Amino acid sequence: MRIDYEDASGFKGWADQLWKPENESELAAILRQANAASTPVTIVGGLTGLTGGSVAKGGWAISTEKLAAIEIREGSAVCGPGARLADLQARARETGQFFAPDPTEWMASLGGAIATNASGSRSFRYGSTARHVLALRVALADGRVIEVRRGDPVDFALPALPLPQTTKNSAGYRLRPGMDWVDLFSGSEGTLGVITRAEVRLLPAPGELLTGVIFFPSDAQALEAVDLWRPVKGLRMLEYCDRGALHLIGEKHEAALLIEHELSSDDEFEQWQQRLESSGALLADSWIAASDADRERFRKFRHSMPESVHNRVRRNGFMKVGSDYAVPVEKNREMIRHYRAVMDQRLPGLYVIYGHIGDGHVHVNAMPETQAHFDLAQRTMWEFAEKAVRFGGTVSAEHGLGKRKAHLLRLMYSDAELDAMHSVKRRLDPNWILGPGTLFEARVPQAAIPG
Ligand SMILES: Cc1cc2nc3c(=O)[nH]c(=O)nc-3n(C[C@H](O)[C@H](O)[C@H](O)COP(=O)(O)OP(=O)(O)OC[C@H]3O[C@@H](n4cnc5c(N)ncnc54)[C@H](O)[C@@H]3O)c2cc1C
Repeated sequence: MRIDYEDASGFKGWADQLWKPENESELAAILRQANAASTPVTIVGGLTGLTGGSVAKGGWAISTEKLAAIEIREGSAVCGPGARLADLQARARETGQFFAPDPTEWMASLGGAIATNASGSRSFRYGSTARHVLALRVALADGRVIEVRRGDPVDFALPALPLPQTTKNSAGYRLRPGMDWVDLFSGSEGTLGVITRAEVRLLPAPGELLTGVIFFPSDAQALEAVDLWRPVKGLRMLEYCDRGALHLIGEKHEAALLIEHELSSDDEFEQWQQRLESSGALLADSWIAASDADRERFRKFRHSMPESVHNRVRRNGFMKVGSDYAVPVEKNREMIRHYRAVMDQRLPGLYVIYGHIGDGHVHVNAMPETQAHFDLAQRTMWEFAEKAVRFGGTVSAEHGLGKRKAHLLRLMYSDAELDAMHSVKRRLDPNWILGPGTLFEARVPQAAIPG
């Protein structure tokens, strides 16, 4: 029976059959059957993705929702791919530990977060999800299941593809000679295999945290503070919201920075007081957390930004149209200036900018009200992607490319480099059944596979 569904970006599709296996062997058997008949298979996690990767265009969909077990150990957690990040964090917290990656959307599944190499606010200090993966079990397209640990090298030759000069990157397979399987599967967006179990690192919860939402009287002062604060040791979050984003959620300020610092001495608290004063921050209006409840309130505040944008865009009948480009941090201010100049001219009042500014990675989101706005926003995002790549950046820092942004990969890679990615895909999935249309625009015909 045909099932229609969509992801969090509003990208719509359908599956001719939706499977919900209860264990790994059931999942592997479904894959074997699909492979024998060359039936396309799309893997569905929490459907919070923003690029259409989990949305099928026919064929079978396999949901991981019933594979959600979580086992907490000292220093790691072993989870089914369908485990929700909210549940993983809650279970880890009970043992005084935490999972460092924090993609703002906690309804994401762990399998989806690994498959997109998700990151988020704390990646400023802790990097993307891949860095925290210790081991994976993966069902390949033909139903074979392999178990790989961090450091187990891929057993065929790989070229070195150029990487962007950014701190995060989720655009395509990040191939390099001698890379390990964990890095190959992380960020491969369900196109190379299905993660059926993951062991991820847990860190001891930090002692004292200073968390703040700091408002500024001008955007320029906020951006100046970003460059001054970026090198602060122990700072694990440095997030930005512009005027439009703040106004959208009812905060009447010009700009805000969200910070979180793992404190190691009382002096550091005082240093922050000085920093805030000298940066021109609006001290009386800013919020500093005094409790975990405050911290949770700030987290929800940050989450409400993308959520409000998505809701508004969807209410107007459009899909999300936003950027996920990162640039080298030294290019960050120039890139933001460019974003703003272009958007003010083309879609004044119909866009917001927020995101992970510590990593040179902000999201520009358009809020189209007409089809003409939507088309213009799409074209503009393409131009922004070109510019980000010219600056040494990436066309996807954390969301992956899915189906909606697969065309952008050509901006970063030549035909020969894309061929190298296709070869890896063909080696692991010769019938090209997994995630067709995701990452690569179309099924690539069979060709000789280099040794
Ligand atoms: C409000 C909001 C805020 C967000 N903020 C952030 C943010 O700050 N940082 C960030 O990185 N992302 C963010 N996202 C995006 C999203 O949460 C991530 O892309 C998430 O990691 C996807 O997880 P999922 O379980 O929802 O996967 P899905 O959307 O279901 O799938 C995503 C991709 O992973 C593949 N996949 C899923 N499970 C598996 C598996 N077991 N094996 C192999 N492939 C699999 C799918 O086929 C698809 O290609 C945000 C989303 C929303 C709605």
